[in-house]
Amino acid sequence: MRAFSLDPSAVAETRERAARQAESGGSAALLELLRRGETPDDEGLASLFLAPLDAPTDALLAIARGRLGHTGDPLVETFSPLYLTNECDAECKMCGMQRLNAELERETADDGTVVAQLDLLHARGLRGIAVLTGEYRRGARRREMIARSTRAMHAALERGFRHVLINIGALDEPEYEDLLGALPRAEDGRVSPRVTMCTFQETYAPDVYAKFMGTSPDNPRADFDRRLKNFDRAADAGMTSVNPGVLLGLNRDVAYELVALLAHVRHLQARGLRVYVSLPRLRKASGAEHHRGVDDDTLYRVVALIAIAAPEAKVVISTREPPHVQQRLLPVIGVLTPGSPGVTPYTDSGARFELSKSQFEVLDERPIEAILGEILAAGATIQDYEPRPAA
Ligand code: SF4
Repeated sequence: MRAFSLDPSAVAETRERAARQAESGGSAALLELLRRGETPDDEGLASLFLAPLDAPTDALLAIARGRLGHTGDPLVETFSPLYLTNECDAECKMCGMQRLNAELERETADDGTVVAQLDLLHARGLRGIAVLTGEYRRGARRREMIARSTRAMHAALERGFRHVLINIGALDEPEYEDLLGALPRAEDGRVSPRVTMCTFQETYAPDVYAKFMGTSPDNPRADFDRRLKNFDRAADAGMTSVNPGVLLGLNRDVAYELVALLAHVRHLQARGLRVYVSLPRLRKASGAEHHRGVDDDTLYRVVALIAIAAPEAKVVISTREPPHVQQRLLPVIGVLTPGSPGVTPYTDSGARFELSKSQFEVLDERPIEAILGEILAAGATIQDYEPRPAA
């Protein structure tokens, strides 16, 4: 199958037709279509997004919940982030880890510390973990960070983590061999353990991408198209699970992002991949000026429409979001991920959350157990979490 390609002009035209449809009142009929169990095309979905009066948010969330088949209580997966470092060679303007941010206190954990953190999180009940680094120029540091991440992935799997997410930037073909070479494979050659590749495009608009991620060939994050095709390289290398995402707030035109993200999700699903969809909102970061995300209602509408359009894809919401947003979205998301964006920040009962050492601000700093315990108390089933028995 050909790698994903995006025609930004075609996405923009779809978005404009959707806006005209929304303005002409066509979205009310589309809402009735949804209620009958049908799904409009992407233009119709964008039109629904753009028509909050004709397609109220509560109605979209209720329909999304029905599409997910949650007849009873919600079922969500969980994992926690584990940053191995806050060093990065990229220059993304919205991120505290970008290399030009002199305010950030830089840290890189050694392997012993990473393993101790895995043991600690396992003891706290987590069975899903995301391994994170920055992104690096070609050379020794890039090879070393990929090697560290590979060792962390193996250490997690050996300790009984059932899902490992890899969020270390876009990789080239030989780097996938380094990452995946020692993992067991199924008969069809695909990687057996649940290992998910995470690379958020952040925005599918090339001009907005260039504004925030830069354009210098020396910047490892600046190549829009190379990042866009990362999941195709991951699938070619045998991965079965991927996690695209949009950073809501970078591009003020959220309807454009919705249309493009849906196209990407469909391409990935057509390749037979399990798809997670992350929709973080832009937050405050050390040394960064841009921290205005979208409002709650916009987030709810995007999440609901993704769940309606692609119910097999699991929407991921993190504790960047405050508790009231987590609770509102719980019935329509597939993953809630609690934890800290600090480097190896976990303690026996909590975590460090210093903005001066982290990628971005997290709004919910409660312990993992409190966040997941609240969800369990609400009747949810949580996959990849085995709470330790009360003392
Ligand atoms: S968003 Fe990722 S690649 Fe960009 S500066 Fe931050 S850590 Fe580096």
